[in-house]
Amino acid sequence: MNLLIMGRPGAGKGTQAEYIKEYYKVLHISTGDMFRKAIADGTKLGLEAKSYMDKGALVPDSVTIGVVRERLSCADVKEQGFLLDGFPRTLEQAEALTEILKDNNLKLDAVLDVNVDVDVITKRMVGRRVCKECKKTYNIVFDKSIKDKCPSCGGDLYQRTDDNEETVVNRLNVYEKQTAPVLNYYAKQNILKTVNGDQSVDKVFSDIKSVLGE
Ligand code: ADP
Ligand code: ADP
Ligand code: ZN
Repeated sequence: MNLLIMGRPGAGKGTQAEYIKEYYKVLHISTGDMFRKAIADGTKLGLEAKSYMDKGALVPDSVTIGVVRERLSCADVKEQGFLLDGFPRTLEQAEALTEILKDNNLKLDAVLDVNVDVDVITKRMVGRRVCKECKKTYNIVFDKSIKDKCPSCGGDLYQRTDDNEETVVNRLNVYEKQTAPVLNYYAKQNILKTVNGDQSVDKVFSDIKSVLGE
């Protein structure tokens, strides 16, 4: 199965991706995670991406499309299937993805849209904490038991530098202008499946399973 997961920043894409990859045994490919790893590793790609990410702007299409093309051309993608998270974010990326899939003889089965209103998002973003080791995501506002260690692996939790109120506002604006039109691109292909993301994590996942067929 080959899937995309879309939604506003903070909609719960990464959280649902953890469940989807376990359940459907697909590879989770997140462009945000790839960029954050490049930054942590201090690569040239990381240096370039950081300047955009810190402002809440998109990394240029030319860079991002190259990264995704390289990853989707690996043999494990074809063998296992994938869940692409955070890409495509512009119409140009969506069109490039269509080409990349064609070149690798791959087909998209469904595009999930996790729909959450803007006012809910802002609360989620400032409380988000991420594990440095296993990359799992938590929320200190909604779960008071979360302190500074990962309950799953014991790693240190950190706050993403782009999860401050000002950058979140920019990212939401970028989403409305550049990413929302991508939903229409997939609606026209009849593969867009919208789920209500403003529900418990478990309920959102059970809705995802029902739209995908278990
Ligand atoms: P969120 O899950 O909160 O939306 P991501 O981890 O997907 O955040 O992305 C974080 C940042 O990484 C984005 O604000 C952007 O700067 C960069 N980024 C990730 N994916 C893309 C993409 N497909 N195109 C351009 N920039 C991207
Ligand atoms: P995205 O990848 O779309 O940016 P995340 O999965 O990182 O979003 O979730 C953003 C924040 O909201 C995290 O702190 C996460 O723990 C929390 N969160 C995710 N899903 C839900 C949900 N259904 N209800 C409440 N909080 C959630
Ligand atoms: Zn962890």
